[in-house]
Amino acid sequence: MAEPSKQIHIERRGLMLVISSPSGAGKSTIARNLLEADPGLSLSVSVTTRQRRASEIAGRHYHFINQKEFERLRDSDALLEWAEVHGNFYGTPREPVEAAMSAGRDMLFDIDWQGAQQLQEKMPADVVSIFILPPSMTELQSRLHRRAEDTEEVIQTRLANSRAEIEHWREYDYVILNDDLSVAFDAVQSIVKAERLRRDRRHGLFEFVTKLVTEKPV
Ligand code: 5GP
Repeated sequence: MAEPSKQIHIERRGLMLVISSPSGAGKSTIARNLLEADPGLSLSVSVTTRQRRASEIAGRHYHFINQKEFERLRDSDALLEWAEVHGNFYGTPREPVEAAMSAGRDMLFDIDWQGAQQLQEKMPADVVSIFILPPSMTELQSRLHRRAEDTEEVIQTRLANSRAEIEHWREYDYVILNDDLSVAFDAVQSIVKAERLRRDRRHGLFEFVTKLVTEKPV
């Protein structure tokens, strides 16, 4: 039988990991790999008025809703942040995030720069933001084509918008160049690991250290 873990648990606040990038820079793949590798992280499932892609599952990738429902959520303050991206509306439901944060769980947000700005303003102590850069615009275009999930018109809109998205790179805590997926993924994992260890996030340290310094070695 396996020994029960003797690791000391130190309470800490949840982390809000925000990842942004232009469409096709690899953010969704990095996010997916991260969620698979890290059971302590859960995805904030956004609402969107965009049409569902064939590969997407309602409730898992997005909650697909109509414009009227979106406006109802937005106007009743049920969204923590929201934005219009590529002609569609997207927003982060407030309730699951607040529940995760108060339980000390970490959440991942695959959102654009407008959403990142809003979360950084509202929860500056909890947000850790990462911007993923593509190696080149040519590579970005070919990744969008390779994905083969959008029409040529949609691809062109996304490419045109990607420059504006990239302009916001300075607003992020970390910037990662996704030239090689495994290297980029490794970098993101290192960031998460280090950010979880930050002193100011671990309120349980006070109690632990207080006890530690008064303890008599046996
Ligand atoms: P896609 O249509 O490719 O799934 O997403 C388009 C863009 O919208 C991506 O940059 C994605 O990160 C962003 N996005 C997805 N959900 C949200 C959200 O809830 N809020 C904001 N601000 N952006 C989002």
